Order: sequence, then C-alpha cells, then structure tokens
Amino acid sequence: MFILKAGEMMTVILETKQLTKKFGDNLVLKGIDSKIEQGQVIAVIGPSGSGKSTYHRYLNLLEQPTSGSVVFEDQTINQLTENELDKIREKMGMVFQSFNLFANYSELENVNLAPMNVQGLTAEAATKQSQALLEQVGLADKADAQPTSLSGGQQQRVAIARALAMHPDVMLFDEPTSALDPEMVGEVLNVIKNLAQTGMTMIIVTHEMGFAKNVADQVWFMDEGQLIEKGTPTQVFDHPQEARTQDFLSKVL
Ligand code: ADP
Ligand code: MG
Repeated sequence: MFILKAGEMMTVILETKQLTKKFGDNLVLKGIDSKIEQGQVIAVIGPSGSGKSTYHRYLNLLEQPTSGSVVFEDQTINQLTENELDKIREKMGMVFQSFNLFANYSELENVNLAPMNVQGLTAEAATKQSQALLEQVGLADKADAQPTSLSGGQQQRVAIARALAMHPDVMLFDEPTSALDPEMVGEVLNVIKNLAQTGMTMIIVTHEMGFAKNVADQVWFMDEGQLIEKGTPTQVFDHPQEARTQDFLSKVL
C-alpha cells in the first residue's frame, strides 16, 4: 500500500516530466507533463494515433522514452535496472485490448501464476486469493474453465483479476473493451467501475465516452502527442475549451 503522508491531502502517485518519444522522425510524444494523484480515475481520450498507447506504455517503462522521466511513488524510475523495474511494475497492473491469457491453464491458474511465481505464495494461498478475485469480477463459477471456452468479456474480466492479484497500487487500462463485441462491453466496464469505487488509482485509455463521463474524475484529451486539455468530465465534455477537443468530441459524441 502507498501511504498518504501526514498533512497531505492528495499525493501524486505517478508523474511524467517532459516525456518525449520519437520513432524515427515521428515525434509521437511531445514532452508530456502529467500527474496522477492517489485514488484518481483518469480517462485518456483522443483520436487514433495521437499517442495514447505510447504514453500508457511509458508509465511503467515497458519501453524507454527518448527523453523525459517517470516518477512513481516519489522515485524516478528511468535509471533503475531491469530487476528493479520489475519490482516497480508489480505495483502497476496492466490490462490491454488483447487479454493474453494462457490458453492451456484454467482461469484460476491464470490468476494464480504471478502470485505463486513472483510473490512466492503457496498454491493454497494463491487459490484462495484468486477465487476471491474471480468472485469480484463475477466469475466465481468459471474458475476451472479454460479461457478459450469463455467469451471475450469473460476473458477480459479474468485479465483484470490477474492484474489485481499482484495488489497493484495503480491499474493501467489501454482500451480494455475495444476488442469486444458490443454486448460484452458493459460487463467489463462495470468491473472497472466497481474497482473505481474501491479507491483504486486508474488510468484508462478509452473510446467509451459515456463511461469516461460517469466514472472518471479527470478526462484528458490527447492529440498529436500532446495533452491538449484536462478537466473534470463536465468541463471537458460539456465545456471543452480547445478547438481540437471540440472538433474531436463533435465527431464521437
Ligand atoms: P493511439 O494509442 O493514440 O492510437 P499510439 O501511441 O499507438 O496512438 O501511436 C502514436 C503514433 O506512434 C502513431 O503514429 C504510431 O504509428 C506511432 N507508433 C507507435 N508505436 C510505434 C512503434 N513501435 N514504431 C513506430 N511507430 C510507432
Ligand atoms: Mg492505442
């Protein structure tokens, strides 16, 4: 657990400073300054190709940025060794568009894997925890099922349980519902919404504007590698200040 410091109302848990990424000549992130406070739910919206996924991947340094830094829980994590970074990454649960469950393992085994292999839990302790997590995502009865026998929505819920099994301080979602059939989007968004109510800090890249409006504390609009506008859902959706935000919203709302 990340503990609030005495006297502080809000604690910045994750911060990027002038985060920049170039792919060849393509400047994909143009010096992003951002701060995520403990317990905040942030929805990152914006057009395809605007750099949302790249930004998201750098929050736990899955890849190294061209320049700039990432500060997690008061520690600049750029200079860490891979081993040290792996420890940090355990505290950031990641959920992607593709669920990437191990097809040969049951749901329960998928959720058990990291706690047993990384945290050294016994099979018994891991199983107890995994069952509780599968129940949290509404899949208590599917523990023994193989991923391939489940719907996309169910698999994504298992992927969320798997990320939660490491007791992360932050959950990072990159378009968690974009690969799903429309009828399965709601069940996954509900799980994320319930998680928000537990106080989990979350950064969610999403195209689900209704969800962003209902669940996020902050909405960040990204375009061409920059955070163009940040605000409460009401500010960004109902009173966007920037022309590019207005233009984007006029197309998607
Ligand atoms: P978004 O998630 O908002 O759709 P991305 O972060 O995926 O945007 O991509 C932003 C830009 O970076 C795009 O122009 C994309 O082509 C480029 N890009 C992303 N990843 C790579 C990569 N590994 N190599 C080269 N270009 C990339
Ligand atoms: Mg993306």
